[in-house]
Amino acid sequence: MKIICPICKTVTTWHENPWRPFCSERCKLIDLGKWASEEYRIPVVEQDREIKKTEGQEELSAGSE
Ligand SMILES: [Zn+2]
Repeated sequence: MKIICPICKTVTTWHENPWRPFCSERCKLIDLGKWASEEYRIPVVEQDREIKKTEGQEELSAGSE
């Protein structure tokens, strides 16, 4: 099953993908940051950049799942 990452629009797979529905941890963090900051601007150039801040990790572990 193929899905499209809602962040960077990259085609990825649903199975064997720990970051679904995103293509990577990077996009998952981007999504969390988006909600956290209540901003919906999607950085289209994000593919070529590395996310340096890791503060989002705390919100990851605090998620209700
Ligand atoms: Zn992505």
